[in-house]
Amino acid sequence: MARPGRERVKKFLKDNALTFCTILGVFAGVALGVVLRKVRHGAWKPREVMYVQYVGELFLRMLKSLILPLIMSSLISAIGSLDLKLSGKIGIRAVTYYLVTTVMAIVQGIILVISIHPGRGDSSSIAAQGSSRNVTTMDTLMDLVRNMFPPNLVQAAISQYRTVLIPPKPDINGTLPPLPEWALSGEYTEGTNIMGLVVFSMVLGIALGKMGKVGAPLLDFCSSLSHSMMIITGWVIWFSPIGVLFLITGKLLEMESFEVIIGQLGMYFLTVLVGLFCHGLIVLPIIYFLFTRNLPFTYIGNMAQALATAFGTSSSSATLPIAIACLEDKNKVDPRVTRFVMPIGATINMDGTALYEAVAAIFISQVRNISLSIGQIIAISITATAASIGAAGIPQAGLVTMVMVLDTVGLPAEDVTLIIAVDWLLDRFRTTINVLGDSLGAGIVNHLSRADLERA
Ligand code: ASP
Repeated sequence: MARPGRERVKKFLKDNALTFCTILGVFAGVALGVVLRKVRHGAWKPREVMYVQYVGELFLRMLKSLILPLIMSSLISAIGSLDLKLSGKIGIRAVTYYLVTTVMAIVQGIILVISIHPGRGDSSSIAAQGSSRNVTTMDTLMDLVRNMFPPNLVQAAISQYRTVLIPPKPDINGTLPPLPEWALSGEYTEGTNIMGLVVFSMVLGIALGKMGKVGAPLLDFCSSLSHSMMIITGWVIWFSPIGVLFLITGKLLEMESFEVIIGQLGMYFLTVLVGLFCHGLIVLPIIYFLFTRNLPFTYIGNMAQALATAFGTSSSSATLPIAIACLEDKNKVDPRVTRFVMPIGATINMDGTALYEAVAAIFISQVRNISLSIGQIIAISITATAASIGAAGIPQAGLVTMVMVLDTVGLPAEDVTLIIAVDWLLDRFRTTINVLGDSLGAGIVNHLSRADLERA
């Protein structure tokens, strides 16, 4: 007769087999990448990397295809099925949590980067890579709000707007006038305007909720669509171990050398990493405990599948379907909460990105030997908050909005090129913390709203 203890262990392993396999996929991906780099003399050719990455790419494509229908249908059906007062309450709780934790992440980042001072020395030891875009903080902020109100929803599904500054002719000394004096233009760039779709879906959900019986058919349609997306997510999840493995291996093969993580840039890398770990493993779990009076370990353990996927894909948006599935199936969070707060969280709540933005801006000023006043540090905190809200949930989006933070301390946009070499790796860690922050937030909001939800 099998002992009950053994049965329990067996059941635990069976229930969590996929999660273990996905975590294993992360480590196996790193190991395979390192081994493949060693066995091959010289760099891997882009075509070879593409072959290695192929399976991962298919997994990513499957996840991405779910984002748009899932976000829209979930938000509309969740908001439409709650009365306005209750959705208002849930929304306010979620946004308060987002803002407070983002600010806490930034403060930790600032304390760490000022005390560790990774930018000691001169900038000559760091090789600048890539290029950057010329924009002002004002344009970035205004584009962010513009994108919230897309003029055409079909277009919003495939592109987003951004301001383009056209350089005038340089004067006789060859110098260009300051950016605000450049001519203005705009363009639509590839990539879903998730922010616009989120805002529209919220408004439509509110309208349908108010319509009562007349709105019910559309609401039912959205709820049914959202359920079907979750069922497909359940199927796609089975690819995650192998998908994550090959995404990571491919990325390691693409990397030029490991040496960039030595020296100044290595210290910067470590500073961000320490900050991310403090925030994700200490601060956020404590906040969760204080509000729910439950230990966070099981809750976080249940999110492991989503966290490993976040690490593998570097994208909060692509991880969204899996994160919602973990929250509902394993952590038993009410679907009306997950489907309401998670799409918003994945778009605007990025603690890891906020922390990194603040650390990177101060690191670059240290490298450039610019000493910052308290006023400037406060300005960095504010713009880093905006930059994390404005960053899309896609790989390295934080690097793009970083320009805004640099602008507040008078640093040129080109300086983001100083940190590009390690950004792809940092991105994986910060995306994991972004997803963890959203998930713990959903748990807290669920706990605080339990009584209201039961009554609804
Ligand atoms: N990749 C991050 C995310 O999807 C955003 C960023 O920090 O670049 O959450």
